[in-house]
Amino acid sequence: MHYKSNNKTNKIITYDILQKALSGEKLDNEELLILLEERDEKAVGKIIFTADTLNKRINSDKVSYVVNRNINFTNICSLNCKFCGYKRTKNSKDAFLLDYDKIIEKISEGIDSIGIDEICVTGGINPDLKTNPDYYFNLIKTVRNNFPKLHIHAFSPQEIYELSNATGMAYAQVIEKLVECGLDSMPGTAAEILAEETRKKICPQKINTAEWLEIIKTAHKLGVKTSATVLFGHIESSADLAYHLSIIRQMQDETAGFTEFIALPFISPKTSLGKSIYRTDRNEIMNEKKALKFYAVLRLYLYNFKNIQTSWPKIGVPAALKSLGCGVNDFGGTLMEENITKSAGGKFGEFLDENEIINLIKQSGKIPVRRDTVYNYLYKYNAMEKAV
Ligand code: SF4
Repeated sequence: MHYKSNNKTNKIITYDILQKALSGEKLDNEELLILLEERDEKAVGKIIFTADTLNKRINSDKVSYVVNRNINFTNICSLNCKFCGYKRTKNSKDAFLLDYDKIIEKISEGIDSIGIDEICVTGGINPDLKTNPDYYFNLIKTVRNNFPKLHIHAFSPQEIYELSNATGMAYAQVIEKLVECGLDSMPGTAAEILAEETRKKICPQKINTAEWLEIIKTAHKLGVKTSATVLFGHIESSADLAYHLSIIRQMQDETAGFTEFIALPFISPKTSLGKSIYRTDRNEIMNEKKALKFYAVLRLYLYNFKNIQTSWPKIGVPAALKSLGCGVNDFGGTLMEENITKSAGGKFGEFLDENEIINLIKQSGKIPVRRDTVYNYLYKYNAMEKAV
């Protein structure tokens, strides 16, 4: 199902929609599309103001963050997503598959240097692992045995799909086995854009929309929380975004299993999709205004999401700070390493330490709160610089 734009996208209609959102009513999908299509600068300013007002009502001035480390265990991948600059073939000079000792070393480094609460583990779809699915299960088991208290956030729906194929086990059995090994939660990545026609154009070999939804629903039913994501700013239309958001919101109504919504701007320079759109490899940075407005629309439409996360590695720290005034209440993580954005040509770094994050959030007039992966608040920092 797709939503068609109509010609009523004028300021008066937009303001009516904003009033509706402010009064706590659920926006419908036609209203979402009107907000997405709104270009008038004054109206966009109103959209952002309203999103900020709603966010303050829900989260006051608190802005959360997580102290975590990304672990990308392999960059060898048999798929060919057109927005990806990360994948390598087995024979590439810089191809890798981490062994468990290296993974343990990286985690120990994260714990010793910054006291990470979480690791986020994802990788390419490495063809060698199709015949060795135990690599995934034993990875989780090994991490759990070595770090009993660490939150393990691992494996996208695409990886669950591959594991199901490799083992002949149903999605539920795969997820249950991973949980037995020590998995805590899963990233809701590989969603990209869930409007099927556009999805087929940018990642033709990935699982389809129905499969992504089925795996996420299965995880939620088993009590495994996931994030929700979208990749935006490429060839998708407003109707595609509206469709994507509508099915995510519907799933959240059914399962309440999403912890947060993360909007990921497309980083184009070193990707085949970027080169085909822009016909150049110059660094096309996501249009900041477009990203900020999108964050605001998310806050207005996703009434059943308490948490909307910005992405500082993709839009840069200054824009991420501005997003805190556009409906966003989560700054994301310390990350320590961020190979996927960097490989696509991202230039905003891959590590912010906790003190930097705390100071940045405070500078924007907000209250930093350290959280765990599933949004339990751990420490709030008051004006006296103490955790409370
Ligand atoms: S996005 Fe992931 S699955 Fe797609 S090509 Fe890149 S590494 Fe492979």
